[in-house]
Amino acid sequence: MTRLPDTWIDVAIPLPLYQTFHYKLPPDLINHVTLGSRVLVPFKNRKLLGFVVGFPKEGFPKAKPILEACPESFFSKEKFDLLQWISNHYAAPIGEVIKATVPLLKSKNPKKPKPFLFPKLSYTRPTALNEDQKKVLALLVQALNKKEFSPFLLHGVTGSGKTEIYLSIIEHAIQKQKTAIVLVPEISLTPQLLFRFQTVFPNQIAVLHSGLSQNQRHYEWTKIQAGKALIVLGARSAIFAPLQNLGVIVVDEEHDTSFKQEEKIRYHARNIALVRGQIDGALVILGSATPSLESMFNVTQKKLTYLSLPNRVQNRPLPKIELIPLNQNKTILEPPQIFSKPLLNALQETLHKKEQAILLLNRRGYAPVLLCQSCGYVPKCPHCNVGLTVYLKTNRLLCHYCNQSQSIPKTCKDCEHETLLTLGIGTERVEAELHTLFPDARIDRMDRSSTRKKNSLHRLLKDFSDQKTDILIGTQMLAKGHDFPNVTLVGVVLADTSLNFPDFRAPEQTFQLLTQVAGRSGRGQKPGRVIIQTFHPDHYCFKYAQNHDFLGFYKEELTYRQMANYPPYIKLFNFKIRHPNLLKAKTKIESLAKKIQKIRSQDPQIAVLEVLGPAPAPFSKLQGQYRFHLLVKSPSYALGQRLLKNLLQEEAFFTSSPKIHIDVDPLNLL
Ligand code: ADP
Ligand code: ZN
Repeated sequence: MTRLPDTWIDVAIPLPLYQTFHYKLPPDLINHVTLGSRVLVPFKNRKLLGFVVGFPKEGFPKAKPILEACPESFFSKEKFDLLQWISNHYAAPIGEVIKATVPLLKSKNPKKPKPFLFPKLSYTRPTALNEDQKKVLALLVQALNKKEFSPFLLHGVTGSGKTEIYLSIIEHAIQKQKTAIVLVPEISLTPQLLFRFQTVFPNQIAVLHSGLSQNQRHYEWTKIQAGKALIVLGARSAIFAPLQNLGVIVVDEEHDTSFKQEEKIRYHARNIALVRGQIDGALVILGSATPSLESMFNVTQKKLTYLSLPNRVQNRPLPKIELIPLNQNKTILEPPQIFSKPLLNALQETLHKKEQAILLLNRRGYAPVLLCQSCGYVPKCPHCNVGLTVYLKTNRLLCHYCNQSQSIPKTCKDCEHETLLTLGIGTERVEAELHTLFPDARIDRMDRSSTRKKNSLHRLLKDFSDQKTDILIGTQMLAKGHDFPNVTLVGVVLADTSLNFPDFRAPEQTFQLLTQVAGRSGRGQKPGRVIIQTFHPDHYCFKYAQNHDFLGFYKEELTYRQMANYPPYIKLFNFKIRHPNLLKAKTKIESLAKKIQKIRSQDPQIAVLEVLGPAPAPFSKLQGQYRFHLLVKSPSYALGQRLLKNLLQEEAFFTSSPKIHIDVDPLNLL
């Protein structure tokens, strides 16, 4: 988009700076610059590349002239509106937002990389949608035809045919020369979805995810820009794909926390999808069997239209869920009871019938704790304030936060007795126990430790899909959208691991995890069964999971959120510091608290904000860095942002070491 050039321009520099800078445009470069052009500018004795983000009307006589300009524009007006929204909402420097979301294409014709390998699975597209699906599709088509922003929440139970809806509505969009973005939590965990899209839309798909090399990313990006890919499938950053004529954005498994970026620009791709939909006039579908509380709340606020698929396709029943209370009265020194009688019997039965079972335990390694029985000593990571996880197969103690490991000591470091004992269970221990119990069964394990090697995840999923594996034990990776029709048993070995997290979202995340993993059972012709073992059978989260009652859970959880004053009733703003020097980190967060206190005393509107902390984060030291945070609860974004604006007037305070990171709508408070 070109505009009449002025004599001055605003330039965003890709550094952690909140302001933009004025430069003069020499007459010979006037026709070389448009919104989104890259320019070389003098900056504090350096020459830096920046982006043109504005054309100020007034003159700036003291502004220095730019040195060079590259006429090509790296973003459209629409894209820039989106980037600016992100910069405002997440209090992120605009230069960094641009840098993080617009890959700088080095050449117009990047070398052709190896093509993305779509998984080869089996899929036959259903010949027709069922009545429920047809109703939902009709409403979506109607909205698509309006050619304006229409946001929906598609709440469909597991196996209700949501993916078929995505495929159908995108077919409609393509017929109308429109394009589409489909966001999924993790590309490597969604081979089936990829395969289905590839089958329906051969050669029209670009795949964007974090595992791409720079060259691959450039290649895909150029392909999209040239209009050679009409559908972009990808993880959260795919929401920035340079598609023209965007008709549909799908956010599949919209509740998934991986849509939130936890570094640099701390955006949530679901939010960006809604804002982009608004700017591009697109249809936005947030799909899930367990919608986030935020999205469901937005339905009641009339910000999203609710669509539901309440039944599984072909009237397949949802699996029956049984709760098994575990014995709380055992001493910790007794060996853990991994399988209750009912779970053991169910496993036996499943193997006998040549069906498959999935076991979930959201904790990798052999055991989470090594303990000295004589003196109580527990080895901790020297860099992180956390205990080390025991890995027996490799004879290591591993830190899950910095990945450093050491071999398992024979004697206690403190009292030198040979009385070290492993406590608790992890996936490796369950796997070992399964081998003992079922020596003839084919058992595999899926967690971040077993899938680190390239292709191992792919191999593992393929083997399970080909029924070369009888029992698959794994962490939450297992719970995601997989569709294995021969799985008739899902066992949750210990549901309490996620319930015990010191986070207000723990019940929500546990409910989601249980419902999702239960949803892997009985997806084919044979009905499914789910057995959940827990020390807290009375927790409300189980009651609703057992009855497949998302709305019931939503209502009860919402009352607790309201009582405790948490989202979706209020907005959270988290200020975080991570620094190797404890005193510096502490001093800095304390002076931030003082500044906030001062603003509160001067501005009666900001005085209503609630401030928690400053305090050490629950993980008070990780990777050699001390962690502090200060949490602000605000009744609205506007008020929180008013505080931020006020604070950021003193920009250097935030950007100088120890840096203060601002996390708007934080998902992770640990
Ligand atoms: P979800 O995305 O809600 O979990 P899927 O779209 O994966 O559900 O559908 C679950 C299974 O049912 C898939 O194997 C799919 O091919 C099949 N399916 C979906 N819609 C229909 C239909 N109308 N008739 C028959 N089978 C269907
Ligand atoms: Zn560590």
